[in-house]
Order: sequence, then structure tokens, then C-alpha cells
Amino acid sequence: MKKERSMEKCSFCGREKKEVNLLIAGISGHICDSCIIQAHEIIGEELKTTSDFDLGSVKLLKPKEIKAFLDQYVIGQDDAKKYLSVSVYNHYKRLAQSKPEDEVEIEKSNIILVGETGTGKTLLARTIAKMLHVPFTIVDATVLTEAGYVGEDIESILTRLLQAADYDVSAAERGIVFIDEIDKIARKGDNPSITRDVSGEGVQQGLLKLLEGSIVNVPPQGGRKHPDQKMIPVNTKNVLFICGGAFDGIDKKISQRLNTQVVGFGGTGDRENVDRKNMLQYIVPQDLKSFGLIPEIIGRLPVLTYLNPLDRAVLRSILTVPKNSIIKQYEKLFEMDGITLTFEEDAYEYIVDKAVEYKLGARGLRSICEVIINDAMFELPSEDTKEFLVTLEYAQEKLDKSSLKRLKAA
Ligand code: ADP
Repeated sequence: MKKERSMEKCSFCGREKKEVNLLIAGISGHICDSCIIQAHEIIGEELKTTSDFDLGSVKLLKPKEIKAFLDQYVIGQDDAKKYLSVSVYNHYKRLAQSKPEDEVEIEKSNIILVGETGTGKTLLARTIAKMLHVPFTIVDATVLTEAGYVGEDIESILTRLLQAADYDVSAAERGIVFIDEIDKIARKGDNPSITRDVSGEGVQQGLLKLLEGSIVNVPPQGGRKHPDQKMIPVNTKNVLFICGGAFDGIDKKISQRLNTQVVGFGGTGDRENVDRKNMLQYIVPQDLKSFGLIPEIIGRLPVLTYLNPLDRAVLRSILTVPKNSIIKQYEKLFEMDGITLTFEEDAYEYIVDKAVEYKLGARGLRSICEVIINDAMFELPSEDTKEFLVTLEYAQEKLDKSSLKRLKAA
């Protein structure tokens, strides 16, 4: 005789169908919604305890593999990718080093990335984070101030890292921190002693402590809002720091240095070979010093690399090539409404032209696309359309009507 449906029970907790919200049938049993939730939690806990940053079980990606991963998301910037890949690889190796006493102790090599805004520094850091098995956090140096001033204390950087590690201190101690806008804490002016420099040298001194590797007392909840919290000591010896900054105006310092060098060497003619459009590629630590970073900080950021400015060809690739490119995201959104979205090549070229013209770089591509595509995203889901083609004329018309045009003046 066929079993009554109302007698169906959860095979795990025994509750009947009417006692639960949902009962899912398997081949020879059932499971209810609360048992699913409980099982999910158990899996989460299990995975956490077994896989947590246990380097033994993590496959160590080789630098070339790390770069290949970055290539899927970030266009160009080969030099920066290579330096990053090697540093991250060495970071893992250092962590895997079991007995530092009787071996050559590998010192960490923190990294500094110099590149105009919007060239992919944060994107590189985020992408690295995607493939890592260590805690990772991004902090903005502009909010950091010396203790006692309005803003965040240096230690808050480690609070973030602790949070990223779910307060597992030993995991946090092997993590990676990306410090963005490091150039904003450069000393203004060449004479360090004229005025007290709240956001400059004092912060650099504080940061130095972290970069060098020391035991820092970290407020687990950050900030000064919780004065009673118990501090957690965190050793930063094995934390890898990646710093990024635009260093506006550093190109002038580089060219000054190159000019004097060339003259100094008797004008060997090297000056003609200098690519004036991309001075950052010639950057050396001394330029960071001229910009206002203290020598101690520079010494603790031994890997110095740069990002190229984005030219038209790169901007065009950024639109469609990366694994989650802007256009692929729109295509996906339309596809969910059963609509095939296509752009004419001319429309792509037009978007790139406008990004260049408005001096918006890669960040601008998205704003321009939004303006062009927004009406279609508003209207088409209610219509019976199966295909949508963005032509050059369509793109021009939408952008001409928009307020984005005003950016041109800015
Ligand atoms: P930065 O940190 O250098 O100021 P971002 O990494 O935040 O710049 O870049 C801003 C946006 O521009 C990114 O989210 C990404 O969409 C795009 N972008 C910038 N550079 C690249 C690149 N080289 N490859 C792919 N996308 C890029």
C-alpha cells in the first residue's frame, strides 16, 4: 500500500511534515528545513577547523600560476603582476619554513605599488585576495593619524586583519594587508621640523613599527569607542604589507633625477630614450624619499614596482576581456531577462573615447556604460524583446542627453 503523504517524516529529527516548514524528499528518506540549516552549520564549522590556513593542505601556487590567475581579472601591468606574484609566493614559503633557527631565515619583502589612480592597484590586491588562503584586508592610509588625534590609530589596521581572520590571532599573524593611498602620509615639504605634521611623519613612524615586525597591542573592536576592551597582542613579523599610492607629481621628481643623472654622466644620450609619457617605470627608492616618505619606511618596503597608465587599447580590453568585465556583467543581467545584449564595435570605441576625453580612466568606463544602458535596463524587462543591440548612434544619443556630459568641463 502506498504510504500516506501526511506520514512523511524527517529522517534526521523525526518531525512530521506538518511540524516543519519544508520537507525535502531523497531516494529513501526526507530532510526538514531545520536539519538542513543545522547540517550547513556543521559543515561550516568542520571546514573552518580543517582548512584554516593550514599550509600543509594548501596547494602552493607557483609565481607563474599566480600571475596567470591575475591575468584573468587584470589587464596588462605585467611588471607589477610579476613582482606581486613572486612576493606572495615567497610569503607562503616563509610561512612554510619550519625551523628558522637552523636555516637561512627568509625575511619578508613588503611591496609598494606606485601608479596613477584607477590603473588597477586595488584591483590587483583584491584579486590576490581572491586566491589566497590567508586573511586579507584593505585599509586606507588617509584615515590614519597619530595616537591622540582625530582619526584612526595605526593599530586599527591590525584590528581589521583580526576581523578578517575571525579573531584567530595566529592566522592574522600570517595575513596580508593592503594599505591604499600610502602617498597621503608623505611628509609635506622638505624640512621635517617646521611644524608638527599630524598626518605625515608621525603616522609613518607608527607604520614603521608594523612593517618592521613587532608585537602590537590591538584593540579587538578598533577605535577609541570601546576604551575598556582587552588588547590582543599581535606579532606582525610575518604579516605581508602591500602598499599602493598614486604619488601625484612624482614623475617630475623622477625626470629631475634622470636629467641630472644624464648630465652627470656626460650626456650619454640616454635622455632621448626616456619614455616621457610613462615616467613611473623609472622609479627608484630615492624618488619616494624626495616625495616625502622617510628612509626607514622605504627600507621596509624593499619591493618597489609601478603600474602603467591605461592607454586606449587597455581601456578597450578592460570593457570586455576580464573574467567579470563590465560588459560581461551587463550581458548577464540582460540574459536573466531572456535578452541577448550585443554592442557594436563602434559603440565600444565610442565609450573608450569618452573615458579618455573626460579623463575618467577605467573607473569612468562603468559610469559611461551605466548612462548608455540604463534606459534599456528600465524598459526592456517589461517588453517582449529578445535581442538588444547597442549601436554607435544609440550610445551617442544616450550620452548626449545625460548629465555625464557636464563632467567634460570638470
Ligand atoms: P587604483 O587602486 O589604482 O586607484 P582600481 O584598482 O580601484 O584603481 O581600479 C578602478 C577600476 O578600474 C577597477 O575596479 C577596474 O574595474 C578598473 N581597472 C583599472 N585598471 C584595470 C586593469 N589593469 N585591468 C582591468 N580593470 C582595471
